[in-house]
Amino acid sequence: MSLPDITARIDAAIAAAGRSPGCVQLIAVSKVQPNDRVEAVLKEGHRIFGENRVQEAEGKWPAFREAYEGIDLHLIGPLQSNKVRQSFDLFQCIHSVDRSKLAKTIARIADEEGHCPDIFLQVNTGEEEQKAGVAPKDADAFIAECRALELPVKGLMCIPPADEEPSLHFALLAKIAKRNDLSGLSMGMSNDFESAIAQGATHIRVGSAIFGERDYE
Ligand SMILES: *Cc1c(COP(=O)(O)O)cnc(C)c1O
Repeated sequence: MSLPDITARIDAAIAAAGRSPGCVQLIAVSKVQPNDRVEAVLKEGHRIFGENRVQEAEGKWPAFREAYEGIDLHLIGPLQSNKVRQSFDLFQCIHSVDRSKLAKTIARIADEEGHCPDIFLQVNTGEEEQKAGVAPKDADAFIAECRALELPVKGLMCIPPADEEPSLHFALLAKIAKRNDLSGLSMGMSNDFESAIAQGATHIRVGSAIFGERDYE
């Protein structure tokens, strides 16, 4: 796959769902990918990227930012409270806010820094023990708490269980967002983004389908 192929598939999925052209942002997930692959996608004009670790992003993106304008970087992996300030300098959006303590730290640092990245709250739709995110039954209260902290909450994010039909999880996330008046839905990855678009995704996070398989060696 390549970026134009993915973009064409996104456009087709949007049209099939009867949604408006351009209503889905493609976050190119560049974690672990070698710099030459990332740079190739930058050269094609893409500017929205996702990383799942603050440290890795710090090592990679300041240099790209010097060379390319308008980079929009999204944190899609776990955030520790002690990395919040650092994440403010790197990311325009954080998709993984999943607990009260973290929300409070973000609110305090936003106050000190005078700005805050856009915020998505992660919901553990499959209620998997090893996965981050608030349980679906706690989502309404957590959304209310984050709004009371005046965080710029744009939407919800989920990562469905690997062995289940993802569309059920996308539908659940969409339902929770709708009843809380949230328009943003960060859902869908390389293997299931078309189904996520059918269920209303506004942000899809696609890595290997754009860049090729990740080599963790
Ligand atoms: C790695 C990752 C992705 C991208 O996964 P692919 O299957 O390579 O598209 C999306 N979302 C999150 C949270 C990830 O960690």
